[in-house]
Amino acid sequence: MLPQEIIAKKRDGYLLSKNEIEQFVSGVVSGAFTDYQSAALLMAIVLKGMSIEETTWLTQAMMRSGRVVELPEVKRPKVDKHSTGGVGDKVSLILAPLAAACGLCVPMMSGRGLGHTGGTLDKLDAIPGFSVDLDDAAYRKQLLDIHHAMIGQSADMVPADRKLYALRDVTATVESIPLICASILSKKLAEGIDALVLDVKCGSGAFMKTEAEARELAEALVSISRGVGKPTSAIITRMEQPLGRAVGNSLEVIESIQCLQGNGPADLMEVTYALTGEMLMLGGICKTPEEAQAKMESAIADESALNAFRDLITAQGGDASVIEATERLPQAAKRLAVIYEGEGAAYLEKLDALAVGEAARLLGAGRVNAETKIDLSVGITLEKKIGDTVQPGDVVATLYYNDDGQIDAAGERLQAAMAYSPDKPAVPSLVIDSF
Ligand code: URA
Repeated sequence: MLPQEIIAKKRDGYLLSKNEIEQFVSGVVSGAFTDYQSAALLMAIVLKGMSIEETTWLTQAMMRSGRVVELPEVKRPKVDKHSTGGVGDKVSLILAPLAAACGLCVPMMSGRGLGHTGGTLDKLDAIPGFSVDLDDAAYRKQLLDIHHAMIGQSADMVPADRKLYALRDVTATVESIPLICASILSKKLAEGIDALVLDVKCGSGAFMKTEAEARELAEALVSISRGVGKPTSAIITRMEQPLGRAVGNSLEVIESIQCLQGNGPADLMEVTYALTGEMLMLGGICKTPEEAQAKMESAIADESALNAFRDLITAQGGDASVIEATERLPQAAKRLAVIYEGEGAAYLEKLDALAVGEAARLLGAGRVNAETKIDLSVGITLEKKIGDTVQPGDVVATLYYNDDGQIDAAGERLQAAMAYSPDKPAVPSLVIDSF
């Protein structure tokens, strides 16, 4: 079939066959589908949708567009986690060593941040010497030796997604459940994992703003991933306010270390335990959530999870002494406190995740486009979270910065993210659903 015939079929609302979808994906990589033809088909998919069967074929064709990793030498269950992304979401840095300490192998391939959301690879860059580019032999050896690795995707994996994602970004075709599912799952399934846990975030700081959208995405992801034979669970979690108290790369590494030392904030630990617990159950290490919880708490208490993180940093060329001496991580030169200046005691009622993420990006913590060089040392700490009491003069948040140019705008953005109330606000549970 000619590309224009496939485009017309989807434009007119018909289901595409497996063959036609495979022709599209191989054409994207070979050039047989030009960029304008690919963009036209992407827009037709956005407008007409795809069935679960079509999305599954798209996912598999994209996954096979490049190298698919196989790890037969790894005997432990290989389980990974994917989050749809949010503000202050440093769960991967805690979860990977924790899961490895509890008996799993975690072959984690992550991405960089774009927009107001952070990326795991950027956070790891804050650790002096840490390399996220391992060659295949080093990656496999590390998985055998210490049972987890955190790296970027190599250039020969899922080239169809790289091409399509760049096109989607500039043709207003990102917002499509089938395209998002195929993009996320093609990359995760190419890692050679046995099972997958998904954290679908919902709220102002997330990709999916409403619970209904998050649920639709989570259900589609689970159904496709299970459909291709991977045991998969999804958890829908709230992203109305940032997760934990730190936003910004170096600051988030410090908070992750505190979590592994047993001093993490409750909300961040709740999400980390929920996701790691699912991984332990899917991997067959634990039978019940209670057993998983006890195992994870003991790996934190006996420092085996912290030691796994130490091993990870050392194995990937980083300076593990940052665990004891966090001042060796990049430090911003200046600080500015945001003070509660109301008349009397109140409660923090709102701490908008998107606005906090944008304030951090103004300071230099995030990217404006893929070429932006980020400042690893800058960011925001949140001394108060929703539901906390504030007294006049209390520090609600602190901005860490180097460049005076954007500090006023960032401070204003952060102030606007917050609202106070004399009445204690209801704080809804962080985990909305899991299945
Ligand atoms: N993350 C991805 O990897 N792909 C999407 O399409 C959206 C989020």
